[in-house]
Amino acid sequence: MTILVLADHDLGALSPATARVVAAASVLGEIDVLVLGEGIDQVAADAAKLSGVARVLVAQHPGLVGQTAETFVPVLAKLAPDYAHIIASAGALGRDIVPRLAARLDIQPITDVIAIHGPNRFDRPIYAGNAIQTVSSAQPRQILTIRASAFRAAGQGGSAQIIPLDYDPVNAIATIVAAHRTENNTPDLATAQIVVGGGVSVGSAEGFKLVGQLAAIIGAGVGATRAAVDAGYAPNDWQIGQTGKIIAPDLYIAVGISGALQHLAGIQGAKKIIAINTDPEAPLVKLADIVLIGDLFETIPALIAQLEHL
Ligand code: FAD
Repeated sequence: MTILVLADHDLGALSPATARVVAAASVLGEIDVLVLGEGIDQVAADAAKLSGVARVLVAQHPGLVGQTAETFVPVLAKLAPDYAHIIASAGALGRDIVPRLAARLDIQPITDVIAIHGPNRFDRPIYAGNAIQTVSSAQPRQILTIRASAFRAAGQGGSAQIIPLDYDPVNAIATIVAAHRTENNTPDLATAQIVVGGGVSVGSAEGFKLVGQLAAIIGAGVGATRAAVDAGYAPNDWQIGQTGKIIAPDLYIAVGISGALQHLAGIQGAKKIIAINTDPEAPLVKLADIVLIGDLFETIPALIAQLEHL
């Protein structure tokens, strides 16, 4: 069976999520990666190096720069008959494209897959991550979004063939007018191996610099609760949880976070949790593997001081 994986990329770089989707898909068969955009030679070259990838199909055109469902779906729909599975990561691009593609092909998509048991059998979270559903599909073709954070990345060492595709431009009604990016040198939250998350008790954007300092020392991504984001202490794209990003790091350090259900929905894939909180009864404290009961404004500087001496 051949699998088609849609590559995620931004600013000319292949997203780390694609390597994870490729690793997830490799249990199903031979993989072709589809790269759409313009100025994407490096993206295609990097996709070709991922182990498990047989071919990289590349369509380059100015009309594909905006990465919208309107422009991408016709390409995917045309390729669909050759593939048993069409897979995208469950990020912004996949969530935009997969529903439209599925409607076009009259196929029920299976979204947010966190485990693949076989060609037609997948696990996905339901009820904001409070239960895991195993879905068995009798459809002739599967269209999936995969939670990249639930899988390890594919290794390097592949040497896939790069094949250019023709692209018939479409008259798109929607176009991307501007992309507002947050300047951030920390690892991407969705694929970071360590994440430090701050709650509203961090108290200010200035306070979040302390969280960022701890994260920088240990090479972690920085996240926040919705309460901290709503208070303006942290940018939107740091939000972890049901209405934010889903993370699955090896280690999550939760600083002054109570552990509301909506936040827990975003961290269920975390392998180990350290909670730093003044309240020993906080739900996240009860869930954590390691607990530091204390004021974050004393604990974090002390931790930073210790780590700086290592
Ligand atoms: P709080 O619940 O106020 O907790 C603060 C914690 O800090 C407490 O445990 C306290 O003991 C501790 N603390 C206080 N001072 C200190 C100190 N000096 N040192 C150490 N610890 C201290 N939330 C999300 O995070 N993500 C989501 O995606 C999300 N989606 C939502 C969707 C909906 C529809 C709704 C209704 C809510 C959603 N929420 C989400 C909000 C969620 O319900 C909680 O309100 C939020 O997660 C609480 O954030 P918090 O832990 O920062 O604040």
